[in-house]
Amino acid sequence: MNIAIDGPAGAGKSTIARIVAKKEGSIYVDTGAMYRAMALYFMENKISPDDQKALEEALAEVDISISYRDGVQHILLNGEDVTDRLREETVGNMASATSVNAKVREKLVALQQKLAKTASVVMDGRDIGTVVLPDAEVKIYLTASAHTRAVRRYEELKNKPDASNLPSVEQIEADIKDRDYRDMHREHSPLKKADDAVEVDSSDLTIEEVVERILEISASKKAN
Ligand code: C5P
Repeated sequence: MNIAIDGPAGAGKSTIARIVAKKEGSIYVDTGAMYRAMALYFMENKISPDDQKALEEALAEVDISISYRDGVQHILLNGEDVTDRLREETVGNMASATSVNAKVREKLVALQQKLAKTASVVMDGRDIGTVVLPDAEVKIYLTASAHTRAVRRYEELKNKPDASNLPSVEQIEADIKDRDYRDMHREHSPLKKADDAVEVDSSDLTIEEVVERILEISASKKAN
């Protein structure tokens, strides 16, 4: 049984998906981390998101794989564990800019579909219910207001050991709106709610309440 959770940046997808996966005994797959690892490679190799040719040529040099330690997903970029370097805003923005490329998506979607064949997964991203796992038994579209999402991201960044370059809430909100726009308006696999997804707005809900909602939806699917 697979659960797909899509939604914009900062809606709480990864926190929620991780808990739901644990409760369901499934594997949590964070697809955003894959796009971020790819983005890290492009950044380190000074490849511009606008240079489509260079971007696509570089794909042959990038190997992204996943391993699990104590149930936690680790992303390996050409064999190196880069998990701790993926959450920075610059990496997220680069991931958003480069994930518009169809070849980038093709490569990562294939990896995601392969993972879902080996185990029950809770997978989060932007195109999971629409493209990656169109047959997922449970599909959730998780949203929250842009301001709520910016405040959450700010709190997350504030608690990092290196919080010296902390952007303001306004700056994060502006980035989030840019990213939403790009994710929703790109040509390939834009972020949108699948027709059969249940929309959950987490702005005024606690993490526990959102998890509860999803577990209820999952239980009712299993019962049918
Ligand atoms: O979810 P996260 O913020 O880690 O994702 C980073 C970026 O990767 C997103 O802004 C989005 O552009 C891209 N992404 C995507 N498809 C996914 C997951 C992430 O295009 N399934």
